[in-house]
Amino acid sequence: MEQMNTKALDAAYVAPTYARFDLEIIGGEGSILYGSDGKEYIDMGSGIAVNTFGCCDSDWQAAVIEQLGNFQHTSNLYYTAPCAELAALLCRKTGLSKVFFSNSGAEANECAIKAARAYAEKRKGKGAHTIITLENSFHGRTITTLAATAQEHFHKDFTPLTDGFAYARANDIESVRSILETTECAAIMMELVQGEGGVNPLEQSFVDEVVALARSKDVLLIVDEVQTGNGRTGTLYAFMQYGFVPDILTTAKGLGGGLPIGATLLGERVKDVYSPGMHGSTFGGNPICCAGAMSIVSRLDDEFLNGVTKKSEYIFHSLEGAPGVKDVRGLGLMIGILPANRTASEIIGACMERGVLLLSAKNKVRLLPPLNIPNELLEKAISILKEELAK
Ligand code: PLP
Repeated sequence: MEQMNTKALDAAYVAPTYARFDLEIIGGEGSILYGSDGKEYIDMGSGIAVNTFGCCDSDWQAAVIEQLGNFQHTSNLYYTAPCAELAALLCRKTGLSKVFFSNSGAEANECAIKAARAYAEKRKGKGAHTIITLENSFHGRTITTLAATAQEHFHKDFTPLTDGFAYARANDIESVRSILETTECAAIMMELVQGEGGVNPLEQSFVDEVVALARSKDVLLIVDEVQTGNGRTGTLYAFMQYGFVPDILTTAKGLGGGLPIGATLLGERVKDVYSPGMHGSTFGGNPICCAGAMSIVSRLDDEFLNGVTKKSEYIFHSLEGAPGVKDVRGLGLMIGILPANRTASEIIGACMERGVLLLSAKNKVRLLPPLNIPNELLEKAISILKEELAK
């Protein structure tokens, strides 16, 4: 192959779907990433909420390497311990009943949508298939999860999308009620903190009313915890802070700690909706991904999660009311900051120059650091961010 550097190769051969930063990562350790420019960066994004324990965490690495030495893949025609044990751990920790494993958040949501349709058809007959989602949501990039994603600009270029979604306004219970009154619905699907939509936690009173309405209309509740899950918000899953248990929970991202895995957890009402042949995935439940996920989920105990909440409080206290900050919102270590003086992208660029990697969400600066980021690094990153916000 011709001699080209990574950036040139990428530009020539990788489909240009990403607006990448001008930075090549060549390694990392914990919450520090190394660039090919010879610089070190504090990682405040963890690969968009994926590297739960940072880069190359030793316990996670050991679990993955041990499984790599045993076998890497079997297909779902055979039983494997990592898959069964991870499913049991997730069910015991959440109170849900069964798990379907896939490889991504979008696939976890596809499985949830299929489960809701199959359940509604059995219970209410054909036609009761509409799923209500919330404006400004993000549920994935497949044609069906794009349809679930109630943001017009993601839809253009790809219509027609899958039928059967109706959009309500977040924190406006009347808009949910009016759909339920006019349409036979299968489910309501929501992120408890809208991540890509700008890091907006749903109001508790709205969620309470959605839960009550769903129960009274025999409509399933699907919670998309692809981004909020796996300790990100300070509890194992965000629903645990909202005081209800969903019928279906989807997660991915931080579950695998850096390996691709999605999970759809099915509660009591839907646990038997699937029978052999109705759904499947070649790689779903892959033993290496499951071994990595075991190492992550088994360490997200109360003591660790208290540490996540403390780090979150530190960030909120540092940034709320600080110069150049219009608003700080979020839950746990999923935080969005609305800058007052400069655009989010100007601040992200300036912080990158100074060795801090940040993310954006809409017009906000978004923080999703590794959950175990050492306090000294967190303090350093926040003080640089504060200086750039104030300019
Ligand atoms: N759902 C939510 C809430 C997400 O934040 C994302 C990704 O950002 C997805 C679904 C899609 O996940 P994936 O990119 O793994 O398909």
